[in-house]
Amino acid sequence: MTLDPTDAVALTQALVRCPSVTPADGGAIALLANVLAGAGFEVHRPVFSQPGTPDIENLYARIGEGAPALVFAGHTDVVPPGDETRWTHGPFAGAIVGDMLYGRGAVDMKGGVAASVAAAIAYCRAHGGRPPRGSIAFLITGDEEGPAVNGTIKLLDWAKARGERLDHCILGEPTNPDALGDMIKIGRRGSLTGRIVVEGMQGHVAYPQLADNPIPGLVSLLAALKATPLDGGTSHFDPSNLEVTTVDVGNAATNVIPATARAVFNVRFNDLWTPATLADALRARLAAAAPAGLRWSVTFDPTNAAAFLSEPGPFVAFMVDAVERATGRRPRLSTTGGTSDARFIKDHCQVLEFGLVGQTMHQIDECASVTDIRQLTEIYRSVVEQYFASMSAD
Ligand SMILES: [Zn+2]
Repeated sequence: MTLDPTDAVALTQALVRCPSVTPADGGAIALLANVLAGAGFEVHRPVFSQPGTPDIENLYARIGEGAPALVFAGHTDVVPPGDETRWTHGPFAGAIVGDMLYGRGAVDMKGGVAASVAAAIAYCRAHGGRPPRGSIAFLITGDEEGPAVNGTIKLLDWAKARGERLDHCILGEPTNPDALGDMIKIGRRGSLTGRIVVEGMQGHVAYPQLADNPIPGLVSLLAALKATPLDGGTSHFDPSNLEVTTVDVGNAATNVIPATARAVFNVRFNDLWTPATLADALRARLAAAAPAGLRWSVTFDPTNAAAFLSEPGPFVAFMVDAVERATGRRPRLSTTGGTSDARFIKDHCQVLEFGLVGQTMHQIDECASVTDIRQLTEIYRSVVEQYFASMSAD
C-alpha cells in the first residue's frame, strides 16, 4: 500500500488503524516517521521513561534551517474505546461512511496531526522540496491522554538541549465547538486543586457536649470560598471560577458525630493569578472565615497548569485569515476549555491551538468530517505560506 503523504484523509485513516491507546503506540509514531523521512525531514524518535510510568515513543522532525521556525505539535495516543461492541464502526477500522471518518482519535487528534503533516509536505513540494528559508518542525508525542510526563514536556527539553529553534507553534487539538472555523485558542486558564481538612471529635449525637462536629466548620469555610467572585475576568479571559468537587465525611451511621470532614475544590483561573498568588489569596480567605478554635488546614496540589496567553499578533492573524478564507467563518479567539500540552509549549515559543470539531471526542463513534479534514489541511497550508512569506527571521 502506498500512502500519498499529502492526502490528509488517507493519513488520518492509516493513523486511526494504529491502536495507540496510551501508553501503546500501535505503530503510529513509526508511520509518521516514515512519511516525514520520505518527504526529506530529519527525523528523531526519542523514547522517554520515568520510574513508575510507561516508556513513551516520541517524534521530532525538522526540514530546513534556522529561523523562522514554525512547529506543529500534537499527540498520536488516544483514550480507550470503551465497549467496542457499542461502536457502529470498529474504533480502529477507520471506516469512511458518507462524509464521516469513524474511529478513536479521528478528532482528538489524529485528524489534526494528519492535516498538519499533509500541509507541510505539500508546502515543501511546492517550494522545491523544502522551505526556501527557515524551518518546519513536528513535535509529536504518544503521551498526552495519559500521565503526560514522558511526552511533550520532555520532548521540548530534548529539543532545547539540541539547540533546536522553535519560534511559533500550532497545536492541532480539536478547538471548534460546533463547526470548523468557530474558535482558535490563544491561551488557557490555569488549574489549581485545594484540599481542606477540618478535625473534630467523634461522639454520640445524643451527647454533643462530649463531641466536636467538624461539619459546620467545613460548611462555613466552603461558603467563604464561594461568597464573592475571585475577579471580574480580563480582556481575553472569563472570570476565574471555583467549584467544590467533593465533600467527604465517610460516616455511614446516623447516630454518630464524625471525627473529620474533608472537601476538595478546583479553580480554573485567569491571567490575573499564578498558582502561588491564588493559593495565598484562598488561604487568607479561609483564615478570615474560620470560626475561632476551628482546627482546619488547606493544602494545594502541585501544579504546572498556570494560565497563559499568546498576545494576538501577526501569527494569530495568519490563522484567523486562513480560517476565514477556507470556511467563510471568522473564528473567535478563546481561552476556554481544559488544559492541553500548550501549557508546556508556551514556555518555549508562542503557541495557538486550532484543529477539528470537538463534539465527538472521547465518545463512542468518535468521527471527523472528511470535508473538515481537507479544509483544515488547506488552512494549515495557507498559514505556512503566509508565515514564511512574511515572518522575519529574528
Ligand atoms: Zn487531544
